[in-house]
Amino acid sequence: MVTATLRPSRVEINETAIAHNVQHAIAGLPDQTALFAVVKADAYGHGLLRVARIAQAAGASGFCVAVLDEALALRRAGFTLPILVLGIIEPEYAPIAAANHIAVPVGDADWLRRAEKGLTEESLPPLTIHLALDTGMGRIGFRTLPALQEALSVIAGQPAFHIEGLFTHFATADEPDPTYFKMQVERFKTFLAALPERPKYVHVANSATSLWHAACDCNLVRFGVAMYGLNPSGRSIEATPYPLEPALTLKSSLSFVKQIEAGEAVSYGATYHAAKDEWIGTVPLGYADGWQRRLQGFHVLVDGQACEIVGRVCMDQFMIRLPHEVPAGTPVVLIGQSGDASISLQDVADYAHTIHYEIACGLSERLPRVSVNSFNA
Ligand SMILES: *Cc1c(COP(=O)(O)O)cnc(C)c1O
Repeated sequence: MVTATLRPSRVEINETAIAHNVQHAIAGLPDQTALFAVVKADAYGHGLLRVARIAQAAGASGFCVAVLDEALALRRAGFTLPILVLGIIEPEYAPIAAANHIAVPVGDADWLRRAEKGLTEESLPPLTIHLALDTGMGRIGFRTLPALQEALSVIAGQPAFHIEGLFTHFATADEPDPTYFKMQVERFKTFLAALPERPKYVHVANSATSLWHAACDCNLVRFGVAMYGLNPSGRSIEATPYPLEPALTLKSSLSFVKQIEAGEAVSYGATYHAAKDEWIGTVPLGYADGWQRRLQGFHVLVDGQACEIVGRVCMDQFMIRLPHEVPAGTPVVLIGQSGDASISLQDVADYAHTIHYEIACGLSERLPRVSVNSFNA
């Protein structure tokens, strides 16, 4: 997708906010506990390489990504810190991971058998693996002790594999009720106790776990959404041990302003009719930029005032009702602060009946990402 640099719509990333969130998180960790910055999905829409650089400068000891290509993008950009892919990769690509010192998760013995062939054919460094345990997330990982033991027996005496980690992922760490979380912790402990040797990294914590739960004898945190200053729970758990500073703002400016008469319509389907003579402004971004169609009826900020989104959101533009005439070129804030008013990613997510994660990583590549408040350690 072409990034539209000659259009006023843009995502601004506050670098210092990201650095502060990482530094606060690290300061609160027990000794000998590492923080890996989770930069999957273009760093939750904030820009992969930018966020990786900031996180590293702020003290992160490694990175987590979702897919092998993201890991390779980091390696190609020159990052040498450890990288862990969080999703299962195709066994045929295991040699690429090994050659680039990229760690991958393993959740069944069969995957090891399929990966083994390619790994032993070439003279490669061993493939670094993290054993994934499914303690209740139901996504990837060993579900039983015998399944794990079968994998360990495939690995035993096979120099192509190096076990670096053991981990699980929680389904409810961001919810106030700890019952299911505790059940998962107990299952994890049972697995851990059965392991003949403790790997270098034992990890369970995503952002929510790092904020609200005492870790269970672990030494690595996979720090994602909170690095971007977003509360992992949405609004369910308000208190955080340190203030989270949101890093992302979304801005544009009015491309067109006009007055319409009472009864005249706006946008596809002519679903909106002016109640009286009204000033209508056009904002040059739309659902192709990740500003969802269902945001019709929500609002944006002009000069600190909320202006309703009227009519259907189009692919590349949408319209708002202005309180009075303002010139074309007037700034519009879609996410962020304007005067005394502000709109958060959470506000947008609430209106769109989703979570802020989805809004942030849905902001498309057509929107340029611009750094503000640069951080250089
Ligand atoms: C995405 C992801 C994380 C990070 O989660 P946040 O809620 O963003 O902190 C951690 N671990 C795994 C396995 C993930 O997939």
